[in-house]
Amino acid sequence: MKPVKIKCPYCGCPAILRPASYVHGDRAKEKYLYVCAGYPKCDAYVSIHRGTLIPKGTLAKGDLRHSRIEAHKAMALLWEHHIMTRTQAYQWIRYRFGLRSKHAHIGQFSEYMCSQLIAECHDILKNHHIIAS
Ligand SMILES: [Zn+2]
Repeated sequence: MKPVKIKCPYCGCPAILRPASYVHGDRAKEKYLYVCAGYPKCDAYVSIHRGTLIPKGTLAKGDLRHSRIEAHKAMALLWEHHIMTRTQAYQWIRYRFGLRSKHAHIGQFSEYMCSQLIAECHDILKNHHIIAS
């Protein structure tokens, strides 16, 4: 497997495949991350799909990483509550946001897209009386 060539969208530096411990130290849960060459001055990185060297999306700084985690959690509630299957949920976001399948990953989402997705998920959960309106 070869590392993928990607650039940091914030500063334009190349991303370097590094052991996750480079960023997270002993707390590292994953094996590898793509980390901006400007790290730690530029705090941008992204994890990889398990068993591959494929990045989960674009490099992200703290706020965006947090938004993407929250968006994932909101979406996971849809299949945890059996409103949709995971596959249907991803089909729904492709349709809802008019995305091609390769962009229909939360790892590609901007903060704006994450907040839109969270709001949409919450609307569905409210309609199913899973969360209070
Ligand atoms: Zn950078």
